[in-house]
Amino acid sequence: MQVRILGCSGGIGAGLKTTSILLDDDLLIDAGTGVGDLSLEELRGLRHVFLTHSHLDHVVGLPLFIDAAFEAYLENPLQVHASQATIDALRAHLFNDVIWPDFSILPSAADAVMHFEPLADGDVLEINSRQIRAVAVKHAVPTLGYCVQAGGKVLAFSGDTTNNQTLWPALNAYENVDVLVIEVSFPNRQAELAEKSGHYCPRTFAQDLAKLKHYPAIWLTAMKPGEEELIMDEVRAELPDRTVRRLESGVVFYL
Ligand SMILES: [Zn+2]
Repeated sequence: MQVRILGCSGGIGAGLKTTSILLDDDLLIDAGTGVGDLSLEELRGLRHVFLTHSHLDHVVGLPLFIDAAFEAYLENPLQVHASQATIDALRAHLFNDVIWPDFSILPSAADAVMHFEPLADGDVLEINSRQIRAVAVKHAVPTLGYCVQAGGKVLAFSGDTTNNQTLWPALNAYENVDVLVIEVSFPNRQAELAEKSGHYCPRTFAQDLAKLKHYPAIWLTAMKPGEEELIMDEVRAELPDRTVRRLESGVVFYL
């Protein structure tokens, strides 16, 4: 499986793009501003989008890229997988015919270019030899992380989260986890803000990581712009025995 990081920042600024990860050439996890790096041809080849939650930095690209590749999705409708809460939020606040057209009924309800597919905690989908498991995590709004198993390897992506009791047992249930992409949004001095907004800081992340029995390559995402170096230093100080690196947009790796 090819993994291409289109965006992984907690905000925008020159060189910074928000969350979007392309698996092979047909499946996106989240649709932040990073999705704008895909060519029109690449956008037309997308078949599935798995959304972690409804926050703007994770969905802002979705209405725009469906519009850009509209004709391709007439032939092969885009499947948008998300929790029912996320789908309800997108219908009410984004695809509401005020902010953007409702692509789930265009050009007609029977032949729409976008299909919403509700997912719940623990659901597993098999798509082209990749097994994708949804795992509920804890954030300011209902949020799903995703574990993707392909070719005997496991990639886990937390989505936005803070201390939780759900992701870690789900990861421990796998024989191994090869790559963990996980958020640490705030430095320790903003621990209170992190907790209130449903994010990790280095200290709370280290508390949770102690629950993981595996030793995956750990890549951090969703750091607040300008705080990346401090967060990395604080995480390394908390976790001297773990290999932790900062994820950057444009990175491609294979599992
Ligand atoms: Zn969020």
